[in-house]
Amino acid sequence: MERLQIEKPREGEKVIEGLYRDIARRITSSPKGLCPVDMTLNFLRVCHAQSCGKCTPCRIGLGQLADLIEDVLDGAADEATIDLIGQTAAHIMDTADCAIGFEAARLVHVGVLGFRDDFLNHATHGNCLYGVEQSIPCMASCPAHVDVPGYVALIKEGRNADAVALIRKDNPFPSVCGYVCEHPCEKSCRRHMVDDAVNICGIKRYAVDHATEQAELSQAEPTGKTVAVVGGGPGGLTAAYYLSLMGHAVTVYEQRDRLGGMLRYGIPDYRLPQSVLDNDIDFILKTGIKVKTGVNVGEDIGVEELKKEYDAIYLSIGAHDDRKLGIDGEDARNVVPAVSMLRQVGEGHRPDLAGKRVCVVGGGNVAMDATRTALRLGAADVKCVYRRRIADMTALSEEIEEAQAEGGNILTLYAPDHIEKDGDGKVSALWVRPQIIGAVGSDGRPSVSNADTQPVRIACDYIVVAIGQSIHSHPFEESGMETRRGAFKAERSSFVPGSGNVFAGGDAVSGPATVILAVAAGKVAADNIDDFLGFDHKISSEVEIPQPVRANFPPCGRVNLRTNDIGDIVNNFSLVSAGMTDEEAAQECSRCLRCDQFGFGSFRKGRVMEW
Ligand SMILES: Cc1cc2nc3c(=O)[nH]c(=O)nc-3n(C[C@H](O)[C@H](O)[C@H](O)COP(=O)(O)OP(=O)(O)OC[C@H]3O[C@@H](n4cnc5c(N)ncnc54)[C@H](O)[C@@H]3O)c2cc1C
Ligand code: SF4
Ligand code: SF4
Repeated sequence: MERLQIEKPREGEKVIEGLYRDIARRITSSPKGLCPVDMTLNFLRVCHAQSCGKCTPCRIGLGQLADLIEDVLDGAADEATIDLIGQTAAHIMDTADCAIGFEAARLVHVGVLGFRDDFLNHATHGNCLYGVEQSIPCMASCPAHVDVPGYVALIKEGRNADAVALIRKDNPFPSVCGYVCEHPCEKSCRRHMVDDAVNICGIKRYAVDHATEQAELSQAEPTGKTVAVVGGGPGGLTAAYYLSLMGHAVTVYEQRDRLGGMLRYGIPDYRLPQSVLDNDIDFILKTGIKVKTGVNVGEDIGVEELKKEYDAIYLSIGAHDDRKLGIDGEDARNVVPAVSMLRQVGEGHRPDLAGKRVCVVGGGNVAMDATRTALRLGAADVKCVYRRRIADMTALSEEIEEAQAEGGNILTLYAPDHIEKDGDGKVSALWVRPQIIGAVGSDGRPSVSNADTQPVRIACDYIVVAIGQSIHSHPFEESGMETRRGAFKAERSSFVPGSGNVFAGGDAVSGPATVILAVAAGKVAADNIDDFLGFDHKISSEVEIPQPVRANFPPCGRVNLRTNDIGDIVNNFSLVSAGMTDEEAAQECSRCLRCDQFGFGSFRKGRVMEW
């Protein structure tokens, strides 16, 4: 006799769960350039299949919407059909009983508003505006458009030096990027469809660690033109490198003693050893670039002077000023900006925090580096206070996990309220106000507001503020450079309008971003400065890429980099992650699907070997 039973998943349920996982992976790796009308229709169909069918707007309305979109795809529609799609979707949103119908209609509503031109083109011309623009997913997502399948194929054949030479065609910081690139290329890697993204960044690190010789790119004849680059970070040095290869005489002005920018004076050694950075910089300087360190442009020499002395200028001064919390007590002693603390460490001075209690405020990568650095400087207790949840942090998930594993304590949903000082004016506590998570804003992130509870006291000896950096643009504004919210205004070509011969890029234009975005900006600037100077030089690579071998691709786990023993690394600045072994690198390379040869987006007119 049975009344209730222990429930077990049916075979069909297991299969459908697997299929949902497969679809989720495919959506994750959806490349740019898919037809938005087609995608809208297919998403709508999936949503319609989830309808319980009880309310008419959902059961009937979603089907009608699908028919209308079908008409658009068949070229059997006009502008009125597109308006009707929008109105029907809005009506379903107003009248559906539950989230199944509402969200399905919202998806169409957003699509028809956002992609109206594509809907119209399909209706009137029977084709898509997008399809022609598809390219190789990883290359399209790398801001510098590095030839990923090419270098992965070379590494697979053991040709590490050739791989590094190929990377240098688009990015003169292969070593740095092998260690700290945020690898946006991996997000859209097509291997997601099978199992997981190829570890593109880890493979790059393997190549730079194992390349025994350094192949150089060819350099053009001297042009007689001169370019001043202000700022010796990754952005400035990238522009300097390519301009020098193009035959122009380049001088880099850098305010600090050494080149590298935030790579030297921000990112700690346990993630990016100085020797790795020096490897890239030495290679760049071999092209004959002149360097003037210890010169603060705007103070020691004016921009106007440089404009007269050089044919063109590239400003890439980064974002080095700290942002303030703007709360009472912030003037207390031992309240330090994260960038200042990390700069001090980068300069070789390591403050002793032995036994101290440290509060880091912020939720980005800089906050994680400040937390981990404070632990390495001997702090007894490090709390990272963030006003949202861990899921909302902008820091990379691996950075958060490593900070926690090393002993950093992340306290979420606390907003700084005020700082308590002792009798000597030193920090004695950070008072925080508990937050409650709320409605999701237009940026897709949930907002926070003060919870209905009392402020909380966190006793501490130091407060490290890591809530972002601003650009020291003031001296440049005085000489007529325009800014928007403190960042330089520049065109997409990097040209500064109305300046005559000034270009700008990197963090100084975008605000604090990433190494590879600064590199990409430097590459764009070099190309356009060359054009401005009256030339059309090409940067090319002669490296021959191996032909792909057609193979089966059974699912295979991704090789992630191993973390060295916590006990060995948490008290010093030695490298946290270990590179791949030969065996791991070979396996990881073999996971690449060679999208340069197979699948939509493969090179249609041959490989791009120059720009
Ligand atoms: C702690 C920290 C960790 C980070 N971690 C990562 C990471 O893991 N991955 C990642 O991709 N990105 C990371 N970033 C971001 C990355 O470092 C920057 O986006 C990148 O360095 C920006 O390059 P840039 O050339 O535009 O500016 P910068 O690297 O800031 O270089 C600008 C250079 O200009 C010089 N300068 C400034 N003003 C003048 C002047 N008036 N005259 C002469 N020289 C001047 C500066 O001294 C500096 O050398 C991190 C940043 C920080 C602060
Ligand atoms: S530089 Fe960064 S984004 Fe570009 S291919 Fe390498 S890891 Fe990917
Ligand atoms: S499978 Fe290879 S070529 Fe395709 S996107 Fe991933 S890394 Fe690039």
